[in-house]
Amino acid sequence: MNSTQDLDYGHAMCPHCRQWFDAAASKYCISLLLPGVPDRLCIFLCQTCQRKAEGLDASQVKTLHKRCSETLYSERDLNWSVTTELTLRLHGGDLAAALEFGLGLSNVVYTAVINGEIDLCVYPGIHISYAAGGNE
Ligand SMILES: [Zn+2]
Repeated sequence: MNSTQDLDYGHAMCPHCRQWFDAAASKYCISLLLPGVPDRLCIFLCQTCQRKAEGLDASQVKTLHKRCSETLYSERDLNWSVTTELTLRLHGGDLAAALEFGLGLSNVVYTAVINGEIDLCVYPGIHISYAAGGNE
């Protein structure tokens, strides 16, 4: 198995088939809200698993989603193709960038954003600013 250092930019491991793939091409997202995780998890499948998933019925899709989330929980130290909704938002929906650069927020700011206590404004490039959330 490859180490993280061998990976090309934006590559991650598919939690369904355990193959490394270019995450930039992934369009299939499993969005889960799990106990103890304040942000929605976004799990992306490789193109091969994506094609397989598109041909499944609802029950089979549910099984696939369960299997992927169990894999993520049982082996937490691998570079899975998983991020959160907020991390994707911070990177303009670019999964490869979200996987490479992560959230980049302190726990305090992250928790405040998730709880709706502050708003986050993201500009292209390097500017991120915060404004107090209001009840307007
Ligand atoms: Zn796969």
